[in-house]
Amino acid sequence: MFTGKTALVTGGSRGIGRAICLALAKRGASIALVYAGNEQKAAETQAELTLLGATAKAYRCDVADFAATGELVKAVTADFGGIDLLINNAGITRDGLVMRMSEQDFDDVIAVNLKGAFNLIRHTSAGFLRKKAGRIINVTSVAGLMGNAGQANYAAAKAGLVGLTKTIARELGSRGITCNAVAPGFIRTDMTAGLDARILDTVQQNVPLHRLGEPEDVAGVVTFLCSPDAAYITGQVIQVDGGLRM
Ligand code: NAP
Repeated sequence: MFTGKTALVTGGSRGIGRAICLALAKRGASIALVYAGNEQKAAETQAELTLLGATAKAYRCDVADFAATGELVKAVTADFGGIDLLINNAGITRDGLVMRMSEQDFDDVIAVNLKGAFNLIRHTSAGFLRKKAGRIINVTSVAGLMGNAGQANYAAAKAGLVGLTKTIARELGSRGITCNAVAPGFIRTDMTAGLDARILDTVQQNVPLHRLGEPEDVAGVVTFLCSPDAAYITGQVIQVDGGLRM
């Protein structure tokens, strides 16, 4: 399905991003995966992708750094001959009630989760426009749609991603480029591993499907949005949350 296409997946070393890399590679895509600093996980995922027969390379880059993401896009374009699918998945949390949240924690979360996606879109869009093709998927969160106590920074960044997605869909749609978002609920990854077991139990009770999501649940929707079957879908936010927010 994606033979001859290159996907740039930020946060591709672990969790949801890793599952997205594997799902796209299984369908023929070449993968440029971006990670922040976990060399071991990045190398493991790159090796898994290579075992699948995919061309894959890991790039260390802070998505919050505008200049560095420009260099990253140049390097990926030189190595792979272009970029067809951009998955803005890298994300961090720095939770705390707003009364106690530091300025740094607010700024860091906005910089990675929101500005990171802007940076990559800004640097890849010229290439997409030249080809008159391209798929952009932003990984937001149900927290950005409903808010979440203790996550003012994260919910604001993820809500910002929704506005960014809808705007990019309008700006680039006439050139055959789509931009959509997926909004996961609670997915079993390192990001949720640190949450109190009681919180996870409560979530599980309240989710209509009565289980946490798996990274593959999100990867399947991202793969669909990258596929020819989704050619007429743009500006949408698709929740992958087991019915948490109906
Ligand atoms: P995760 O397991 O914590 O993995 C985060 C990934 O992002 C890692 O690959 C990490 O690289 C990378 N990353 C972090 N900061 C970065 C930076 N500044 N520059 C480049 N890469 C960076 O997270 P996850 O649970 O898979 O989450 C993936 C996305 O889904 C995030 O945007 C998250 O907000 C969103 N999401 C997750 C859930 C959930 O329940 N898990 C729910 C809703 C939305 P290293 O390995 O090098 O650290």
